[in-house]
Amino acid sequence: MNDFERRGLMLILSSPSGAGKTSIVNTLLKTEQKLKTSISVTTRPKRPGEVDGVDYYFVSVDEFERRLENNEFLEHAEVFGNLYGTPNQFVSDTLGNGEDVVFDIDWQGTQQISQTSRDDLVTVFILPPSLSELENRLRGRNQDTAEVVARRMSEATYELSHWPEYNYVMVNHTLEESVSNVRAILIAERLRRRRQIGLASFVNHMRGIK
Ligand code: 5GP
Repeated sequence: MNDFERRGLMLILSSPSGAGKTSIVNTLLKTEQKLKTSISVTTRPKRPGEVDGVDYYFVSVDEFERRLENNEFLEHAEVFGNLYGTPNQFVSDTLGNGEDVVFDIDWQGTQQISQTSRDDLVTVFILPPSLSELENRLRGRNQDTAEVVARRMSEATYELSHWPEYNYVMVNHTLEESVSNVRAILIAERLRRRRQIGLASFVNHMRGIK
């Protein structure tokens, strides 16, 4: 690891619902100390097993709108009829500490963040191996009704059309391979010259320049 100051980056992972990005993020977080996850605010009903403040902050539509008016969101979007938003305070605090933030958000949120924070942004689009595999995963997690699964499948083909807007694109064949791909991206992007803000003084010091 380099021993000089670095600017934190924003790593966005997007995919059609069910392509496996939540598992990728959770696995990555176990080994990456300098990576924090952004917990979104949503009006979607909690699924079985989900925990408020861990998976999402679950709020009413009124509360979401209050926060929106209060400018508390870095981006927000409606997805499958529910509202989702990224709290901006956590992101600015974490980046300010020189740590990275990973986001599990859709293409609408990615477009909004790219307009304001392009230099700090690294975006990854995750494709399922096939549409039938995507449907198997949506059904297999047993969290949504058949109607919700059908709606997510019908939106998946449109969501897939956004892949050219991302820096990196990968097919999620196995969790292990995808985690190692995303880790490789993270390592390379952290080494980008412009993110290593302590680099000039580090090299100048080595060269005896004040
Ligand atoms: P789910 O309801 O399955 O947890 O998420 C549905 C979709 O909403 C996923 O594609 C997820 O990436 C996206 N999403 C979750 N949180 C946010 C957010 O804060 N902003 C945006 N734009 N999309 C989000």
